[in-house]
Amino acid sequence: MLETPSARNNQVKEYIDTLFASEDEVLKNTRKNCKEAGLSDIHIPAHLGKFLYLLAKIQSCSRILELGTLGGYSTIWLARALLPGGLLVSIEIDPKHGAIAKKNIEEAGLANSVDIRLGNALTLLPEMIDRKERPFDLIFIDADKENNCLHLDHSIQLARPGTLIFIDNLIPRGEQVGGRPANHEAQFIYAFNSYLAQHPRLETVLIPSIVQYQGRLDCIGLARLKD
Ligand code: MG
Repeated sequence: MLETPSARNNQVKEYIDTLFASEDEVLKNTRKNCKEAGLSDIHIPAHLGKFLYLLAKIQSCSRILELGTLGGYSTIWLARALLPGGLLVSIEIDPKHGAIAKKNIEEAGLANSVDIRLGNALTLLPEMIDRKERPFDLIFIDADKENNCLHLDHSIQLARPGTLIFIDNLIPRGEQVGGRPANHEAQFIYAFNSYLAQHPRLETVLIPSIVQYQGRLDCIGLARLKD
């Protein structure tokens, strides 16, 4: 039988997710709660959760910043990697999402190490910079793609030399990869990728990831703030 690339991608995703990133009951329930609450199924796949968790462990994180909490699925993966007494600050614009995430995080036993801040990151991040909040060891940007450049610029001001910055979903849907596609969001993402690739303060690469159930190939950006 002829195999479409996406079917094979999906098999690879299922294989990795099952063998290397199997979810415990907390993570399974988090996904179930999100689905029942009508949240769109755009949280990161399990293998990406495990990837972020491992990088956060390697980085010995005591402070993590997340932009875009959604239902708290990636928040839980990341918060589990914090050093004892560590803190994850997660910014979410939609109060409904924030309430679902809060419940999931409580059920995960992580309420003491996660601080969900409701509001627009474009308002909250400059306030955090003004308050001179302590720098973060790892930052995960997974919010509205149109504002990736601004979110990155603000994040750098909340980082220290060596901070890891991840940016999700850097290969948008559609046949054409790179260039100037017709789709508006795709244009923003490819323009952002050019900005990211040439950023003088960052060393960066994109890592392929397989998302959703159609086996679509996407990418997550991994950047390190230079010393
Ligand atoms: Mg995402």
